[in-house]
Amino acid sequence: MKIGIWISIFTIFSTILNPSKTEDDLVIEGFNYINSKPVFIHLKDGRISKIVPNKKSSNSPKLFVAPGLIDIQINGYVGVDFSGPNLTEEDVVKATKALWKVGVTSYFPTVITQDISIIKKNLAILAKAKDDPDIGISIPGFHLEGPYISPKKGFRGAHLEKYIKKPDWKEFLELQKAAKNNIKIITLAPELEGAIPFIKNCVKNGLVVSLGHHNGTATDIQNAVNAGARMATHLGNGCANQINRHHNPIWPQLSEDLLKISIIADGYHLTKEEVRSFYKVKGFDNTILVSDALDLAGLPPGEYIRGERKLVLTPEVVKFPGENVLAGAASPITKCIDVMMDFTQCSIAEAIKMACSNPAEMFSLNHLGEILPNKRADLILFSMERNKIDIHKTFVNGKLVYSKK
Ligand SMILES: [Zn+2]
Repeated sequence: MKIGIWISIFTIFSTILNPSKTEDDLVIEGFNYINSKPVFIHLKDGRISKIVPNKKSSNSPKLFVAPGLIDIQINGYVGVDFSGPNLTEEDVVKATKALWKVGVTSYFPTVITQDISIIKKNLAILAKAKDDPDIGISIPGFHLEGPYISPKKGFRGAHLEKYIKKPDWKEFLELQKAAKNNIKIITLAPELEGAIPFIKNCVKNGLVVSLGHHNGTATDIQNAVNAGARMATHLGNGCANQINRHHNPIWPQLSEDLLKISIIADGYHLTKEEVRSFYKVKGFDNTILVSDALDLAGLPPGEYIRGERKLVLTPEVVKFPGENVLAGAASPITKCIDVMMDFTQCSIAEAIKMACSNPAEMFSLNHLGEILPNKRADLILFSMERNKIDIHKTFVNGKLVYSKK
């Protein structure tokens, strides 16, 4: 008994004398990505407890610390296809862990136009995988891209025409039920019959409605915005090559103040001039970077068979063999941050904001996207090698989930 009392007294005194040892689970040292100043970030119970200036920084090599990245449009990773017919819960675990290695601490698995029974099955699998607390914490919601998009060639992109349909609220509710209410964003075409009441229903139910793969007129787009649509999905892509120079879907989406845009700034899906122009109009507050990566992303370069098609994965993009035609994106979102800085000369703080703070704000993920006390401790430590981000460590909910050897 007496020994127990002495131990308690000793514990109280040591806590008072040396609070950092007992108060915090972990202290991370790095250069703040916003101002490059060295800081200690104290973590407690999965949250950031405090940020303290580091007066004697000895961090070598120079590692920056930033919030974990948030990718709101990703079709798959390391061979896992969120829209594929054979998706399993284990696949979702595999993709999530692989994404941690590239600094993505939250993502919205994106299910695209498919046979409706496969969409429903995959949403249910994703919902079940999200129940795993270790993995689910990195999946704030799902992105449904289609099947309510334009069936027209060019605008439908790689989506299969036979599965494209008009908006159907009853059908969507069935999908949302399979997803256990986890569909948080839907990409659709505003010009389709029934799209405007459908958008109103989505907004009433708390979804973000994003316009994409469409050939909407200025009026269609205005009506969609009036109904509550707030984003344009991968602006400049999901659009035919031949469009009218005056009347096309790009201008009204660029000029509409209420629409934020997502862009695939991987260096291939948009030209430098497009990225610079979009960025100049929307600024870093209204631009969200997305990888839109295909399942081949994260795999070794080479030839792959997908369905009946042969695809070539280069280190940075997926192409159709011999045609030099893009088949999809294959770079993680870190590449888009690198390209944004290169193309627009924006700062690293601005580029990272477009890949974490902006998506967090769009989806009211108030606990994510910034380094501030009480935010969830989702953090990345990275170096800049020849103007490219190199992830060294990733933390999710205060836990180290990846460390470079
Ligand atoms: Zn798309």
